[in-house]
Amino acid sequence: MRLWLSGRKNARRFVLHPAARARKHQAIGPAFAPCLPTACVSLLCQNRALQNVDLYATKGDAMKNWSSVTTRVLGTATIAMALMTPTALAVEHKVEYKKDNSSNPRLRDVPENRSVLAQIAVASERPASFTLANGLQVVVIPDHRTPVVTQMIWYKVGSADETPGKSGLAHFLEHLMFKGTANHPAGAFSQTLLRVGGDENAFTSTDYTSYYQRVPREQLTKIMEFEADRMTGLVLQDENVLSERDVVLEEFNMRVANNPDARLTEQMMAALYLNHPYGRPIIGWRQELEKLDRVDALAFYKRFYAPNNAILIIAGDVNPNEIRPMVENNFGDIPAQPSISAKRLRPQEPTAAAPRTVTLSDPRVEQPTLHRYYLVPSASTATAGKSPALDVLAQLMGGGANSYLYRSLAIDKQLAISTGARYEGTSLDSSQFMIWATPKPGVEFSQLEDAIGKVIADLAQNPARAEDLERVKTQLIARAIYSQDNQVMLAVRYGGALTTGLSVDDIRSWPDRIRAVTAEQVREAAQKWLDKKRSVTGYLIKDVAPKSEEKRS
Ligand SMILES: [Zn+2]
Repeated sequence: MRLWLSGRKNARRFVLHPAARARKHQAIGPAFAPCLPTACVSLLCQNRALQNVDLYATKGDAMKNWSSVTTRVLGTATIAMALMTPTALAVEHKVEYKKDNSSNPRLRDVPENRSVLAQIAVASERPASFTLANGLQVVVIPDHRTPVVTQMIWYKVGSADETPGKSGLAHFLEHLMFKGTANHPAGAFSQTLLRVGGDENAFTSTDYTSYYQRVPREQLTKIMEFEADRMTGLVLQDENVLSERDVVLEEFNMRVANNPDARLTEQMMAALYLNHPYGRPIIGWRQELEKLDRVDALAFYKRFYAPNNAILIIAGDVNPNEIRPMVENNFGDIPAQPSISAKRLRPQEPTAAAPRTVTLSDPRVEQPTLHRYYLVPSASTATAGKSPALDVLAQLMGGGANSYLYRSLAIDKQLAISTGARYEGTSLDSSQFMIWATPKPGVEFSQLEDAIGKVIADLAQNPARAEDLERVKTQLIARAIYSQDNQVMLAVRYGGALTTGLSVDDIRSWPDRIRAVTAEQVREAAQKWLDKKRSVTGYLIKDVAPKSEEKRS
């Protein structure tokens, strides 16, 4: 796969291979090392289809904005690309999937990022929204820049809605949704898309599962018929279900089992959530994943895939008035599923009582890293103003070379090679505020933790300087505005927010709410939420002990 980030001038090309990424990361040089988080690139490299990442980028100060790149991006490469949009660069992209020769060439992705709210921009035209009698909510986002349309259906079901013991089912079903229906055999939908020059993908999160296609606008009617058909018409056979389960197990091996960073994340999330199902990995626990079958998949499908549990987003060169009859025509006759409750209730977290630590050692670790996750409110669970204050706090602490963590740990104290912070705002239930730092050789984790503790204590006691506050607000809002460039991302932002309990108005007013955040609110957020009792600290270290296999004769 190749990614092109074409800047205005001086475009440079970097090739990052999974096996060599750590070395290449260093080789890119100091101008880029703090700006190109290894974790981000490594996540892109976790895609099986991804043999190489060719990154074309513009050298210069603008690249500092890359430090705000999310380290756990949404699964599809396109989306990952869009999240990487640096504010000062025009970004063009082209993604090529290298197909393998198996019967299931497409490995779909599990997105782990739920911070899409942080990227939301106000579209120039207000989206039109209506609901069919069967409960299907429809949002039409006009975008007339190119004669292209993106159709995205969002089901309000994710891994956190799975029955205990059936982890991984939401994501497994996402794979199975490409197995065809009585009306359209397996592959017909994808072949149609290929013929018309469209593209497609799907992704699963803790709170939602989404499928999208992007096509020339005159093809919308055709792809809407396909999407409506598979809302209830899916046909599964043991044969193709079991072979797809092997694909998912392979995905598990590649993305989690063979990836120490991902394994640490899995362990930290399990330690952070004592009671809430967010502690369960989206891809599932292996021993449960191995047992999922056709009956499980069909039961889950019938339970959750229905018009009253879905949001259809149409973004593109369309007129909302012509969309309504088209949607009525395709989806209007599908009956609602009365057993789906409007409110999704999951077990909630108890009051935090003790800080936790997790240490993951693995011989494949190239670079030790310290991570800290705090349990914090999401945009949906926070009271007014609290979530934007966390957005601003994360940007102040971890957004680039001027951020407080970077200035303290990397520049002043010379303890860290890289640092960062991120707030996951888009989430139905309590979410995470994350901090990470990579130590310089010879620096102990305890030294990093002391320094991080001082940055937090300072933020909790003293209001941020006015110019810093202005700078990070501008960065957040600018990023949101520039990110409108990508039609798929535009649809993702609305879908991600709407399926996690927010409204179109919440999405559109986000920049205003960021502007309104005060220094005192940021101080309060640091004091209240960055309390170590609410946290898990994760240490990723290199295991230097010889492997037990080596003892065998
Ligand atoms: Zn997948």
